[in-house]
Order: sequence, then C-alpha cells, then structure tokens
Amino acid sequence: MLDGKNALVTGASRGIGRAIAVKFAQHGTFVGVNYFKSHEKAKETMEDVRRYSDGILLQGDVGKLDEAKRIVEKFVDVAGGIDILVNNAGIYHRTSFLEMDEEIWNKTMETNLKSCYNMCIHAIPHMKEGGRIIFISSQLAFKGSPHGAAYAASKAGMLGLMKSLALELGERKITVNAVAPGTIETDIISNYTEEMKRRRAEEVPLKRLGEPEDVANACLFLASRMADYITGETIVVSGGLYMK
Ligand code: NAD
Repeated sequence: MLDGKNALVTGASRGIGRAIAVKFAQHGTFVGVNYFKSHEKAKETMEDVRRYSDGILLQGDVGKLDEAKRIVEKFVDVAGGIDILVNNAGIYHRTSFLEMDEEIWNKTMETNLKSCYNMCIHAIPHMKEGGRIIFISSQLAFKGSPHGAAYAASKAGMLGLMKSLALELGERKITVNAVAPGTIETDIISNYTEEMKRRRAEEVPLKRLGEPEDVANACLFLASRMADYITGETIVVSGGLYMK
C-alpha cells in the first residue's frame, strides 16, 4: 500500500511507534526509526523493519529543536525527502493537578506537543504533493484526564496544530490527520496492575485493551492513497471506550 514511500516515525523504539514502523515496512516503506534513549530496543525495531523493507536509526530527543533538525536532516540525506511523518513520541506523568510541579508540565508539553512543532517545522519543507503528517494524540484530548491534566492538554494541543496544518497544507496536497488511541497495551500503562487492566478491558465495549497494531492499522490507512481526500480528521481507536 505504501510501495516506494518513506516514513519518519518518532519514538519508534517500542510500543505503538514500533508497530507503525513495522506495519509501514510490511507495506514497502523505507522507515526512519527515531528513538531517544533505548538504542537496544530501537535496534530490535530495525531488525523487524528489515524483515520487510529497509530503514535508518535516528537517535535524538524530538523535544529539542536542534535535535529534531538533525534527525530530519539525517533522514532526508538518506531518503531524499519525506513522504510520511508520524509524530508519535510521548510521555505520561500521572499526578493530581495541584501536585504537578512546573517541571512535569513543561516536560510533558515539550515531549508531546513542542516536539510536533520541532519535527513539522523542519520536515514540511522536504515534503512533496501527496505527503502525509499523522499525529498520535489520545482519546483523553476529548475526555480530559483526572491525574493527567498536562497529558490531556498536550494531546488536545496536538489536534489544534493538526487542524491548522491541514488548512495550511491543503493547497500543497499534503494531508494532516490524527489517531487518538484509547487504552493500548504498551509500556506507557506499565503502572497498571493486572486487575486494573482487567477492569479497564471490561469497560471497553469491544471487551479488550487495544494492541499497538490496532493503532498502526489506522495509521496505514491514513498514510495510504485510500485516505487521499481525508484531512484535518481524527480517528479514535479505542474499541468504543471513547463513548464512555
Ligand atoms: P511507550 O512509552 O511505549 O512509547 C513512547 C515512545 O516515545 C518511546 O519509544 C519513548 O522512548 C519515546 N520518547 C519519549 N520521549 C521522547 C523524546 N523526547 N524523543 C524521542 N522519543 C521519545 O508508549 P506508547 O503507548 O507506545 O506511546 C506512543 C504514543 O501513543 C504516545 O504519544 C502516547 O501518548 C500515545 N498514546 C498511547 C496510549 C496507550 O494507552 N498506550 C493511549 C493514547 C495515546
């Protein structure tokens, strides 16, 4: 579905980012696997990518403007341009609002939202007609999150940026969309006990937690020609949990 395309995926050493990188590779994409600290995990992602296609490891903190620039430039040097950018890197700090110090607020905004500015500002000049930008937001952007105010605010901010870019980039035929996952089994919910996971799965209308691949499938659709006429939209991938 993406034969001959290239894609740069941030935070792709594990979890949802890894699933997107591998899914895209399965469909013929050359993949830029950005990671921050976990080189070993990123190498595992690359091994999975290379079973189907090829790619490049791109170390760097996407929350930092200069590092985002370096990541994009290294990718463009090798791939020759950017067809698909997926802004996936993110962190979640669980804390009540009044106990949240400024450092947590700033770090969450920097990693989840400012990173999107950092990547887009450098990547967009290298995108041609038919380009795709996909933001990995969260259902909490709509619902809010008790003990996750900074996270929910950053994820809602991503949607404002996504829609603004969709309006600005339409005339260049670049589509910009978001995927808003519900509860997906990754390290980001490692603080959940098995009992908490069971109870959450019970709340989900489809009666299970999401898998990273569920999110990757929505990204594949948005990245493909099938989504040529879709821009400024958000696909919620939550098994229906979003409605509760
Ligand atoms: P995860 O913790 O496994 O993955 C997050 C990835 O982002 C990791 O690879 C991490 O190394 C990377 N990262 C963090 N800070 C970075 C930085 N400064 N620079 C580069 N990379 C950085 O969790 P996940 O569930 O795979 O999360 C992926 C995205 O999906 C996140 O944006 C998250 O907010 C979003 N999301 C996840 C869920 C869920 O339930 N798992 C729900 C909604 C949204």
